[in-house]
Amino acid sequence: MQTIKENFSTIIQEDLPLAKHSSFKIGGCADLAAFPRTKEELASLVALAKQENIKTLVVGNATNMLFDDAGFRGLIVFTTALKRVIWGEDFVEAEAGASLTAIAGEAVRRGLSGLEFAYGIPATVGGAVYMNAGAYEAEISRILTESTYFDGEHIRTRPLADHAYGYRKSVYQTSGDIILSARFSLQKGNAEELQKLCEDRMKARKEKQPLEFPSAGSVFKRPEGHFAGALIEKCGLKGYRIGGAEVSEKHAGFIVNRGGATSHDVLSLIEHIRAEVMKTFGVYLETEIIHVSERP
Ligand SMILES: Cc1cc2nc3c(=O)[nH]c(=O)nc-3n(C[C@H](O)[C@H](O)[C@H](O)COP(=O)(O)OP(=O)(O)OC[C@H]3O[C@@H](n4cnc5c(N)ncnc54)[C@H](O)[C@@H]3O)c2cc1C
Repeated sequence: MQTIKENFSTIIQEDLPLAKHSSFKIGGCADLAAFPRTKEELASLVALAKQENIKTLVVGNATNMLFDDAGFRGLIVFTTALKRVIWGEDFVEAEAGASLTAIAGEAVRRGLSGLEFAYGIPATVGGAVYMNAGAYEAEISRILTESTYFDGEHIRTRPLADHAYGYRKSVYQTSGDIILSARFSLQKGNAEELQKLCEDRMKARKEKQPLEFPSAGSVFKRPEGHFAGALIEKCGLKGYRIGGAEVSEKHAGFIVNRGGATSHDVLSLIEHIRAEVMKTFGVYLETEIIHVSERP
């Protein structure tokens, strides 16, 4: 750890409270955290961490994460300082830490269509490419043309066809590569119409989702033929609480932090929901949120 701290002293922080850096506002401290400013800096930091056998996790806005109360014994690299964006007539290329909603908004202002589904998803580009984030029947895989990544030794480019995309699935979930940037294809559209669509959808999000409380979005993936939120609601679980974690009254697919929730509270609530939904409907709910556990 000493070598990393010495070589990257300007971008490293020790004992970073993860609760302050995640949308759930849950989690203990990471031994080390870093905020690299360039792709090359990120790549050389990760390469050195690997050489030094330091457990490393790369994240974006941490809006899909449940950090553990025990924290993280290693290095968490946040991509949020990597924000360079290049605009073309029919594409945008953005670094991993760029805000997805910000580029979707800018695309709309430029009268470019394709990203409007992503307006309101609180992701970074890297997190969205990793998760194949989606909404309104669209998802990242529909507009991505290629991504660049670091495989631990080299920076490479991956075309869309090699992303193994599926519902909330991508090759990055198994490859361990670090996404550095992505290119999305866009088409000419009507700026005013696109703007209106985005505003309407944002309004709907505010009405339907509990954005007033910390959360990590939908806790469960959509089970085939069902909606997780509807199944949970039908089990009478809206408002059900364990510690500071509560099944949202507004949208049963969300667990919200009503104050002081721990990862233990959230995990216990997930197990309870799962058991009730299985008992009532015989459907297994797979989690979409990612628990960063210290357990092997
Ligand atoms: C209020 C709210 C609403 C939401 N609405 C939606 C929605 O409509 N649709 C949807 O799909 N999701 C939604 N989400 C969930 C979340 O925003 C998405 O999953 C998003 O893609 C996560 O992006 P992130 O930058 O926060 O990634 P993080 O949460 O930081 O990371 C997610 C995963 O990606 C990995 N990762 C991140 N960056 C990189 C990188 N550069 N290289 C390699 N791996 C990386 C992380 O290790 C982690 O495994 C919502 C969340 C909230 C809180």
